[in-house]
Amino acid sequence: MYQGIYGSSKKHESDLDHVINRAFKSGVEKIINTAGTHQETIQALELCSKYENLYTTCGYHPTRCNELNESNEDEILKQMIDLCEKNAEKIVAIGEFGLDYERTQFCGIDQQKRYFEFQLKHLISLKKPLFLHNRASSQDLYDILYKYRDEIKAGGVIHSFDGTLDEALQFIQLGYFIGLNGCSMKIQNNLDVIKQIPLNKILVETDAPWCGIKQSHASYSHMNTQFTSELVKKEKWIAGKMVKDRNEPCTIIQICEVIHSIRDKKESFDELCETIYLNTKHLFFSDQ
Ligand SMILES: [Zn+2]
Repeated sequence: MYQGIYGSSKKHESDLDHVINRAFKSGVEKIINTAGTHQETIQALELCSKYENLYTTCGYHPTRCNELNESNEDEILKQMIDLCEKNAEKIVAIGEFGLDYERTQFCGIDQQKRYFEFQLKHLISLKKPLFLHNRASSQDLYDILYKYRDEIKAGGVIHSFDGTLDEALQFIQLGYFIGLNGCSMKIQNNLDVIKQIPLNKILVETDAPWCGIKQSHASYSHMNTQFTSELVKKEKWIAGKMVKDRNEPCTIIQICEVIHSIRDKKESFDELCETIYLNTKHLFFSDQ
């Protein structure tokens, strides 16, 4: 989408540089790009080389695990480890990986489980935090993480969390942060869960270009910052403007605003942001 391509049709020229600069201008300090295959990590590293404060993950997304099989898994694993070691500063997490039982058309459950565990088992030794994807798969994800709990030292985040409070607390107890974005707060039920998650276990993310907050979401009335005057339809794109229905990193403030509002403003907005900022630093940038 940042290349101007939506589905298979080109609507406008690439504006990725605008998007990234808009984020940094709005106060974002660092961006972690999430890669879903080895090839995507290589692409992300190329982008990272152009921007000082851009980082990436390294791993296979559950919907991309069909690209791995018994004849290439060892070779790809070797390449991934090699890439992580050579780019230790830019690759700040393993992932995004995990399980997705809502989209099994790309990769079946058995294959997903096999390659989630395969990556986990062989990449733990890199001692990087885990960036975990979880859709309708909490129990299986938990069981696999539990199995390796003693070897996993760097912690991780259950990103784009939209589960129950019990699930959140189970993951927290195992040492994980809960990552919240627009998809985590679509319905009132989600808000009721978020309200009860301890603030020192919350991370925020955008998952851009996906997961923007929409007018139909329960979260919508809880946010203050609007980008309405900045938005144009993709067909009417002009340089320097944001595109309607395409999310961007600069909208991350909205996620914090929603959390602040549904927690009944228990703490000041600045305090809330500072806590989440420190959580993020602690997990991904503890050496900086
Ligand atoms: Zn995900």
